[in-house]
Amino acid sequence: PTLPYDDDNIFAKILRGEIPSNKVYEDDWAFAFEDINPQAEVHTLVIPKGQYVSWDDFSAKATAEEIAGFVRAVGEVARMKGLVEHGYRMMANIGAHGGQEVPHLHVHIFGGHPLGPMIA
Ligand code: 5GP
Repeated sequence: PTLPYDDDNIFAKILRGEIPSNKVYEDDWAFAFEDINPQAEVHTLVIPKGQYVSWDDFSAKATAEEIAGFVRAVGEVARMKGLVEHGYRMMANIGAHGGQEVPHLHVHIFGGHPLGPMIA
């Protein structure tokens, strides 16, 4: 089950500007910033501005406008980072088995070189 949203999670603080981040992109629906511990040459995180714990929460409860805005933003960030020509990977961890560490939905964007197979 999805936990209640915790307003003190680290990405909520980044959204509020209480903790610094290396901002890549922002619009009405989404905010993107560089991962603090990059796992690839490009490793950017995209989060919705709404308070959603995970993809489960978001896909069930977000408005069509929020979903469209977020999906558009993820694609926009990949384009801005120059990843489209050679391709890239996007990923979201959900809950305990997914290994999710921060309880605010985030999509990882990886790229900049061949990424190899997914590690389970
Ligand atoms: P998860 O495992 O929840 O899918 O991924 C959390 C990601 O957030 C990790 O890749 C981790 O490096 C990143 N992260 C955790 N804390 C911070 C932070 O304070 N700032 C930034 N920019 N990234 C963070």
